[in-house]
Amino acid sequence: MLKLFNSFSEEKEDFEPFDKPDVKIFICGPTLYDYTHLGHARIFLTYDLLCRYLKSQDFKTDVLVNMTDINQSVFNKALDQQTDYYTLTRFYSDEFTKDLNFLNINTITRLAHVSDYVPNIVKHISHLMKNKHAYSANGNIYFDTQTIKDYGKISKQSREQLQLHRLDIGPNKKNPEDFMLWNCSEDFGFSWNGEFGNGVPWWHIQDTTVAFENFGLHYDIHGGAKELAYPHHDAHLAQYKAMTGTENPVKRWMYIGLVFSKGEKMSKSLGNFFTARDVLKKYSAETIRMLFAQTHYKGPLNFSDELLSAAEKGLEKLNNLALKINDEIKLNRQKGSSPDFDFEKYLIAFTNAMDDDFNTPQGIAAIFDLVKDVNRTIAENEYVIAEFYLSVKAFLKKTASDVFGILDFDKLSQTSDDKLEGDLIELLIKLRTDAKKEKNYALADKIRSELNNLGVILEDSKDRTIYKITNK
Ligand SMILES: [Zn+2]
Repeated sequence: MLKLFNSFSEEKEDFEPFDKPDVKIFICGPTLYDYTHLGHARIFLTYDLLCRYLKSQDFKTDVLVNMTDINQSVFNKALDQQTDYYTLTRFYSDEFTKDLNFLNINTITRLAHVSDYVPNIVKHISHLMKNKHAYSANGNIYFDTQTIKDYGKISKQSREQLQLHRLDIGPNKKNPEDFMLWNCSEDFGFSWNGEFGNGVPWWHIQDTTVAFENFGLHYDIHGGAKELAYPHHDAHLAQYKAMTGTENPVKRWMYIGLVFSKGEKMSKSLGNFFTARDVLKKYSAETIRMLFAQTHYKGPLNFSDELLSAAEKGLEKLNNLALKINDEIKLNRQKGSSPDFDFEKYLIAFTNAMDDDFNTPQGIAAIFDLVKDVNRTIAENEYVIAEFYLSVKAFLKKTASDVFGILDFDKLSQTSDDKLEGDLIELLIKLRTDAKKEKNYALADKIRSELNNLGVILEDSKDRTIYKITNK
């Protein structure tokens, strides 16, 4: 059974969703004023891996990501670029979706823009005020944290520690740790109409509203970066408890470690910052997925060209075996040796690793143990029957393809077929050039017209011949 670490209890717990087999996951999403950086990419990629694994274990996953389009940084950038927040955020929202596609992250089911939820936010704030969880001070609306037992439990802070932070400073707040829900006192150039005054919905209530409107009374996993624990997630849980009247609306909190480069946290100011698309220019999605999966999700991930190249080399071994498998399955050899190979052993090692707090590095190691032992078996036996290769393919498909997304058998055979096709056409072009040099024009014309019949058009220029394939 899958056990996952819960940052709330700080223990590995059995994974039991509220409504098995459905698993509802909320991820704190991007603020839409810049491209996706690798720190973000790691978060979404990790949940993609988790969802793929849960699916392989017969769960059904529903992943909601909130898209922050109401935010100080968004307003500032829109002002800088002389555009409005809406145009700016929809641009970055589209780019974010493209990055997810490039990385083959395909398990997110709902992307929610906060600005589509403003009427709901207003409704919830009114409700919180009515129930005395929120109050008005200096025209702004604040959440009264004293109304929630155990406030600060996610970040493991006492009331005294929380008071030191002095959040959202305002002269008439009831408690220093109270946080803002609706900001009426600053001019951002944009405002929404709330029953308590024109203003801007503040950060924490945005995400809580999006989660509540999509998932209702409870959900199973809240994800994001650990640095969001305080104040964001403490505030989120307090609001969710107040809105639902329940004590445990979120089953577990699962945090993803930071990405480091050259020994330091990746950040713009240190100049060691990469966007997902920078890296995708040089490396495949499979390579990036492999590197991320080789580090446990809770730990820091070191990012460097050397590590990416090492991941690429590892993938090469996997791809070479997969190409061999494709060839052998095509050959469909029925006579030959049938090695005694214990596939079950590797599958158990894989599942045990993944079930132990989602230990993807060990899961990857189980796959590569199999690759090594399969290669040895093939080398030791001259002709191995197709059935063996079908079993290897089934194992790799279930693990490397479906769960990790680091191997695509179809794409692999396509590219190798395409390459062979290209090489054969180039060979015929060379033979035709030789024929022309020998003034054997009949043969040269025959090659051209036969290729033409196959849909391959040759175009001669001064010093070379190029081809076009018309039937694709
Ligand atoms: Zn959030």
